[in-house]
Amino acid sequence: MQATGSDESAEPQAAQTTGAEPSAPTQAQQSAVATEPDNAAEDAQTTEPTQQPLAQQQSDEQKASPSHSDGQTEQAEAETQAEQEQADTEADAPVQGQGHPLRGFIRPIAGACVTEFPGHLPGSPRTYRNHGVHEGLDFYEWASCTSVSYTTEILAAKAGVIIRADLDYVEITPDDWQRFIDANWEGEAILDELRGRQVWIDHGRGIVTRYAHLSEIAVGIAVGAEVQQGQLIGHPGESGQQEVYANPGTDIHLHFEIRIGDGWLGQGETPEDARTLYLEAFGLAE
Ligand SMILES: [Zn+2]
Repeated sequence: MQATGSDESAEPQAAQTTGAEPSAPTQAQQSAVATEPDNAAEDAQTTEPTQQPLAQQQSDEQKASPSHSDGQTEQAEAETQAEQEQADTEADAPVQGQGHPLRGFIRPIAGACVTEFPGHLPGSPRTYRNHGVHEGLDFYEWASCTSVSYTTEILAAKAGVIIRADLDYVEITPDDWQRFIDANWEGEAILDELRGRQVWIDHGRGIVTRYAHLSEIAVGIAVGAEVQQGQLIGHPGESGQQEVYANPGTDIHLHFEIRIGDGWLGQGETPEDARTLYLEAFGLAE
């Protein structure tokens, strides 16, 4: 089984046996929980193309439909559904006893704070795209209180079952980018391509976490594998972004989403309110 996407540098320490017995929370988890989230992201420099004021965000994209599908996303969704029943069943055990399905997550990068930068939060406009709304939470080094590099560990935010792991991911090219432009960024399939190399974890009860733009996927992370909270699943990168070929190393970040059925945590909220929802999910709300 392939362990990595585009390169072969599988890390020995990344080796995770699937179906390992439940283990105690990791050190990463403990340190993550102990860290205060607050640290304003004042740095105006960003590789994100948009940083509109909060007031503008409610405008046109609240109902950007995350669920209509086409092209290769249909394929992905078909695969997802094929795993769904099994995932539902298998993920129930770890989820049970943890109460509210939107509580009990750890941050996917140990020690990271939740950015205060609106452009990194759900609900932020993406006006250069037709769909125009950010559906997740970004972890950039300059806004997240901790290092975010190709070697940073991305951790499973909660126990669950892997329902997507792009082990055979092929990086986008300038031709792909032109194709996105020509298509006016229309369609869920293009949005999916823009998320680059991804891992998705099903936590049961309709809750899925997505980890996007990865540079590498950890050994043992494959569809059907059970993961424990805090388990290493991969490393940040900039896959699916223009920078990956135009300016390598300048857009490294983790894009993280908590999906709720066909929607996402923070959907329809201002970035500020979406941030609060993520703080609550991480157990960090004041
Ligand atoms: Zn993002």
